[in-house]
Amino acid sequence: MGTCTEEFLKDRFHISGRVLALVAEAEADVAPLFAGLDDVMAFNQYKVLAAFQKNRVNDSHFSWNTGYGYDDPGKKILSGVYSDVFGTEAALVRPIIVNGTHAISLALTGVLRPGDELIYCTGSPYDTLHAVIGLRGEGMGSLADFGVAYKQVELTPDGHIDYAALKTAVSPKTRMVCLQRATGYGWRRAVMLEEIEEWARFVKGMAPEIICMVDNCYGEFLDVREPSEAGADLIAGSLIKNPGGGLALAGGYVAGRADLIEAVACRMTCPGIGDECGLTFGQTRAMLQGLFLAPKTVNGAVRGAMLCARVFERLGFEVCPASHEQRSDIIEAVRLGSPEALIAFCEGVQAAAPVDSYVRPEPWDMPGYADPVIMAAGAFVQGSSIELSADGPLRPPYNVYFQGGLTYEHSKFGVIRALQAMEDKGLV
Ligand SMILES: *Cc1c(COP(=O)(O)O)cnc(C)c1O
Repeated sequence: MGTCTEEFLKDRFHISGRVLALVAEAEADVAPLFAGLDDVMAFNQYKVLAAFQKNRVNDSHFSWNTGYGYDDPGKKILSGVYSDVFGTEAALVRPIIVNGTHAISLALTGVLRPGDELIYCTGSPYDTLHAVIGLRGEGMGSLADFGVAYKQVELTPDGHIDYAALKTAVSPKTRMVCLQRATGYGWRRAVMLEEIEEWARFVKGMAPEIICMVDNCYGEFLDVREPSEAGADLIAGSLIKNPGGGLALAGGYVAGRADLIEAVACRMTCPGIGDECGLTFGQTRAMLQGLFLAPKTVNGAVRGAMLCARVFERLGFEVCPASHEQRSDIIEAVRLGSPEALIAFCEGVQAAAPVDSYVRPEPWDMPGYADPVIMAAGAFVQGSSIELSADGPLRPPYNVYFQGGLTYEHSKFGVIRALQAMEDKGLV
């Protein structure tokens, strides 16, 4: 950091010399690793550009129509570009897919039929999917309500897929095996592309007709390949995370084999209609421009996560993943060890925001969570977590999950403010 930036941060934001020195030292430690991230970013930038050019994106695609939306120009172009970026036969990309949970839910409910069995092979699925599967709540039309059985295979203690247990779990009824790439609210490394490839090969080796599905939330553009290019039949994710690049106002995607995407589209609208109907409501430009910027945005967020890891490693905190470890999502978990530290960290991140910087985050009883959760988010798009954010449940061991940042400098500023807030309270 140049002297003039340091002086500005001291004067304008009251950052201490100690905090700035700590962050500068940590940055020097991780900076040599940034070159590898930049290679991935460059590759993905050109990969995305190639998809735009192949699909002959032009200004007329940014318009939209009304009513049934048969010829909505945005629909086809979004499908075409996403299919090429993810290396799939087809893709469904819409602002009317309300979030990541909805996208994953469509992938599950669109494909699975009564009597089928679903296996999750990365332990407990993301919290919001429990109601979809039928692990929580009754009578909401979950997979369980429709006679789809569910099995769960835990990860091994060192965080890898337990192939022996997966083999035992698979039965003649198994129709789909799901893998969650990102950490979620866990304490494990994200699943690397090499392991996803090995997993898909293993499942297909047991029974080629089993569908390999990946919850790709937070994982897009962390590698030069996506899970769909490593054997997955179906992937799904949120546009207010990585692939929306911070510009998409809402939406989700499902990409994969053409027959499966058709089934998913029939669930999204209704049988016989599929993706023929539905509008893009003028969101195509933002969705495409966000995708175009996403490789660079994700690069900044990953650099920020590595810096966060290194700063807190240096201070003696446990972090996951470690600063030098290869990554497959944008999340950094820090074991803060006390409610005071968790709250101070989140207050610091909130104070770093461009929007709502003046509010103080309070722990609250979020629906579906057993303990109060504290969240710092000051985003242009509500709930966007490709923008800088931090959150964690108020329970031991008081892990905070730090992610996002539309630029590296902003993500870094989140680390600086979090550390400063902890220093101000005598917690570091
Ligand atoms: C965010 C996330 C989801 C759900 O996404 P929402 O947009 O919050 O509904 C599902 N799985 C993982 C791993 C996630 O990170």
